[in-house]
Amino acid sequence: MSAIIKTENLRYVYGAGLPGATVALDGIDLSIEQGEFVGVIGPTGCGKSTLITHFNGLNRPTEGKIFIDGTDIWAKPEAIRQYRFLVGLVFQYPEYQLFEETVEKDIAYGPRNMGLSAAEVEERVMQAAAFVGLAPETMKRSPFELSGGQKRRVAIAGILAMRPKVLVLDEPAAGLDPEGREMILSQIKKFHKETHTTVVLVSHSMEDIAKYADRVLVLQAGKVAMYDTTERVFARADELVQLGLSVPQVTKIFLKMRQLGVNVPADVYTVKYAKERILEALAAGKGAGQC
Ligand code: ADP
Repeated sequence: MSAIIKTENLRYVYGAGLPGATVALDGIDLSIEQGEFVGVIGPTGCGKSTLITHFNGLNRPTEGKIFIDGTDIWAKPEAIRQYRFLVGLVFQYPEYQLFEETVEKDIAYGPRNMGLSAAEVEERVMQAAAFVGLAPETMKRSPFELSGGQKRRVAIAGILAMRPKVLVLDEPAAGLDPEGREMILSQIKKFHKETHTTVVLVSHSMEDIAKYADRVLVLQAGKVAMYDTTERVFARADELVQLGLSVPQVTKIFLKMRQLGVNVPADVYTVKYAKERILEALAAGKGAGQC
């Protein structure tokens, strides 16, 4: 594996040199491998949004470096635009940025700007629409006639159609009902699995991070507090709670069981794994006359 995103001592200060300057990122050293699914969590104001807008060159580091696929992206500032295509960024509530007359044109906007042929654009638009589950008859409709969840899908498809090497999503399920959340996130996971695109997902939902991420980055006051496998991060539940974060409900239950003296592991964060461990504990308990 090789790093698709690497940061070296990344520091970002809003209003640098002015009174009231805010240090948003404070020496971030980080490496995200090609094909990983990384979750980003941390309390409000810890620097999550600032960090991800560095990945596609929207923000320029005050200090330090950022490498995409081995290249220092600010070595040639005039070439920064290419990183907007290489790293696709889906902002919170991306549907507010829809503006074209039809869904098809909206999804095509990014790839058209990349200077691709009409045939290539069309193929990408169709594939991206299929990934997010938009029916072909939706393509000629105005995006403004669609439901909130469908609009969100159109906006995400517009980024997928650029076929970025990295897909970065800031709270892609915010404001959707549980069914809509599940649908969007499982489509993103499917896209990740089928295309091996690296995904960076910012979310407040520990359940979503637990379910979809392979690794979790925890930010705290502009610094990396933890960066490890999902399992190892959620096993540090006490520290997460001290940071003002939560852990998945199933992890909470297992920690409580441990406090009550039941012999179950602490690094349980999905319901499926929890079920297996409970069955194991019950089987062991039967033999030993406990549990
Ligand atoms: P998060 O996404 O984790 O909530 P942000 O990256 O938005 O965190 O913010 C990090 C820090 O930078 C916070 O202290 C925030 O108040 C500050 N900040 C964010 N955007 C701006 C801005 N445009 N101008 C000044 N300070 C900002």
